[in-house]
Order: sequence, then C-alpha cells, then structure tokens
Amino acid sequence: MSSDLLFPDGTVTRFFFNTPFFSLDNLLPGRPLIFITDRNIKKLYPSLFPPSRTVVLPPGETHKNRRTVNYIYKSLLEMNIDRSATLVGVGGGSVTDLTGFTAATYHRGLTFGFVPTTLLAAVDAAIGGKNGYNMGKIKNCIGTVRQPGFILWDFSFFSTLPEREWISGFAEIIKHGAISSSSHLDFLEQHTSDHFKHDKLLLARLVSESVRIKTDFVIKDQNEGGMRKLLNFGHTLGHALEHSCKLTHGEAVSRGMVYALRLSEKISSLNHEEALRLEALLKHYRLPTAMDFKPGPVFKILAKDKKKRGELIDFVLLETLGHASLHPISFEKVRKDLYDLCCNRP
Ligand code: ADP
Ligand code: ZN
Repeated sequence: MSSDLLFPDGTVTRFFFNTPFFSLDNLLPGRPLIFITDRNIKKLYPSLFPPSRTVVLPPGETHKNRRTVNYIYKSLLEMNIDRSATLVGVGGGSVTDLTGFTAATYHRGLTFGFVPTTLLAAVDAAIGGKNGYNMGKIKNCIGTVRQPGFILWDFSFFSTLPEREWISGFAEIIKHGAISSSSHLDFLEQHTSDHFKHDKLLLARLVSESVRIKTDFVIKDQNEGGMRKLLNFGHTLGHALEHSCKLTHGEAVSRGMVYALRLSEKISSLNHEEALRLEALLKHYRLPTAMDFKPGPVFKILAKDKKKRGELIDFVLLETLGHASLHPISFEKVRKDLYDLCCNRP
C-alpha cells in the first residue's frame, strides 16, 4: 500500500505501508541506494545489506553524535558517493536522525528515505523531518528540518525487537491519541500489545493511524511555531527523566504524561475520570506510571529545558482526552508539585 504526501516545504514523501524491505530496489529504480544501519541490525539481518553499499554505525542514542556523523561523511567519500545516490536509513530513531542529517548536508544535500525498524521510530522519529545529533547531554541541538523522500514500513523487523523497545513505542502511540484522537484511544483499549505483535494487519492499522496523526501536526506547523509543540505532551518531564534515570524513551514519556495529567486536572479542564482512564491505558500497555524517582536531579535538568522562559516553563496539558493545549506554568509550581508527587523524596 503506498501513498504520496505533500509537505509545506514542497517535498513529496512516498509512504510505503506494510511493504517488504526487498521491494525497495523496484520501488526506487534508477538510483544507487546506500544503506545506513547499525551493528545490531546488520548482525540480525546480514543478507539485506550489501557491504559495498552499506555504512554500519555503532548502535544507540549514545552514538548519535558528531563523531558518528563524521564517520558517515568519511565512509561516503571513500565509496565515492555523489549526489545521484539516495541514502536509506534502516534502523531506530538514532539511525534515521543521523541519516537525515548527513543526507541534508553531504554534498549540499542528497535524497534520502527511512526504513524504521523500531516501533518508536515507525510512529515518531521517522516522521516529521527533524534530523540531527546530540552534543554531550544536549539532545538534538544540531540538526536540520528536511522531509525524507520515502518511508517504508516493513513490520517483520519488529519480530527481533527486545520487549522493552517494543513497549516503548506504545507511549508515543498513546500520546498521539491523548492529544488529538479519542477514537485512537478507544481502539487501543480494545486490544493489547500482544494482539498487535501477532496480527500484522491490526498493527498496520495502528501504525498508519498514529502516523496520520503525527503528519497532520507536522503539515500544519512544520517548523514548530505553535501546533507541533503539542506533540511534546509528556516530554518536558519525560526528557529530564530520560537523562537522569536509565529508562527507555517510552518509559520516561509515560511517566511524563502521568505528571502532565496531574497538572491538567489542576490547571486545565481535564476531569479526574479522564486522567484515570489514560493512566489505566498506559498500565494496560505495561508502561510505568509511578512517580518513583528522586525529584532533585530531574528538577536540575528541567531547569535547563529550552521550553523554560524566565520563571515560566511551557507544558502541554490536556483539556479533554483528544484535545491538548500549551500552558506556561510557574517553574516554582512545577518544582513543588514534583516534590509532592514523589512523596517528598530527597
Ligand atoms: P529508537 O530511538 O527508535 O529506540 P535506536 O536507534 O536508539 O532507536 O535503537 C535502539 C536499540 O534498538 C539499538 O540498540 C538498536 O540497534 C536496536 N534495534 C533497532 N531496531 C531493532 C530491531 N528491529 N531488532 C532488534 N534490535 C533493534
Ligand atoms: Zn518522543
């Protein structure tokens, strides 16, 4: 199943849903494809990557840095890659972010596309055109906004995903429902993560709806002037938690959403039953909801958040399930609430 989508910058992205990886050569005839992947994926799927056309990266977010970007540039130069090539990032969010960035900058820009191999990348990182890398602890501080020429979703990659990485993706899927579609939440409530693991058509429905929601936000606000910020629901606290505790992105965002629910009940119009319903859905997908971390170190990172302006910090809150809005909140209030919620831990 394929469809084309026009982005505000004029890029047309081709979406290939539930399409086998091996059909790429036929779908994109006439252009040399250069694969960028990581060591784990290469090891799990060795036959997919011809050595002369593949750049293999060290895996994970800790390697999403300048050193790895330089390694990609150097490898492309050694392979004599010119502007006629298309870079194909095959991996999780770290690989797709690095591929998008190098493609945007190498020889002033090559065409590129993604094959997300984690559920998280399939519904989030691969979509929206934000690409880049981290400088020390500062996430994504160097980057570009550029849409890929195509995204291909081959769900068979998910069969090798560790359980924690699989579950992590559901946090973003639930987030998409929470901020803009209560029917997406109904659908999630009717199923379990195991249903999606064993039924590819059901999974295709889930992923395509989540992708539709995210692209909707991106098309209306590609450069994050307003509406796209709502996609940060759960991420203000989530990012701080991810930095200070050993959590997957989804585990951190799940707790971040629970905290944002508490704030939403106090500050916006979300009622208690709705907050409990979303929290129950997170638990249903085996995502953590307990505020069982030490608030001190988390708060220190929050204080450096780019969403902070003077004494205020922007939080995405829910008005109802399926409707979000941006609220500037007193930083002191956030600090106090966080300490209260974490049972006055030191
Ligand atoms: P994300 O941000 O989407 O979680 P990363 O690129 O940081 O993605 O990948 C997280 C980890 O999962 C990495 O160690 C990566 O090698 C591994 N990984 C990615 N896709 C798969 C897969 N399909 N099967 C097994 N491991 C995978
Ligand atoms: Zn996220």
